[in-house]
Amino acid sequence: MSSNERIKIIVKRLKIIYKNMSIEEILRERGIVVCPIYGCNISKGAYKMYDDIQYIFINTDLSPEERLETLTHELGHSILHPDVDTYELKSCNCTYFLNKYENQADLFAAEFLLHDNIIENICGCFCEVGDGKSIYDIANDYKVTAELVLIKLSNLDKSKLNKFDLTLDCISVLNTLNC
Ligand SMILES: [Zn+2]
Repeated sequence: MSSNERIKIIVKRLKIIYKNMSIEEILRERGIVVCPIYGCNISKGAYKMYDDIQYIFINTDLSPEERLETLTHELGHSILHPDVDTYELKSCNCTYFLNKYENQADLFAAEFLLHDNIIENICGCFCEVGDGKSIYDIANDYKVTAELVLIKLSNLDKSKLNKFDLTLDCISVLNTLNC
């Protein structure tokens, strides 16, 4: 099983366990301490384990949407690789591992905040025809960044994509996303 498939399965299980709970409630339920960072314009958030307690640091200057996306990303760090200190990786310039863990947390957030059925809305988005929505429309609907929508699309099951009558233009763009 690939790492991406593993993350998809982990998120599905979590959504069953924490059905209808907000991200803040999930963090509380898991005993994760959320610490606000005031006046910091460098990072949106960070995750750290210290003395067996998990901490998430969150920038107080974020919009509600950015806050939700960032908290979900940090929850991803806490579940996928709880012992990894991303602060430390940043300070030692361990780019390879940092990118690997950041990509995993981004994928976790994309899987957590977006449904598989977003593909049903995008049939016309890359093309001039159709009344489908653009990636930006979907991002707006779900209150997430367009980048997260692209990450979600890139992790969709190909068989799901094949069910839809996508035009060649759509398919070529989706192929560039490694769908
Ligand atoms: Zn991160």
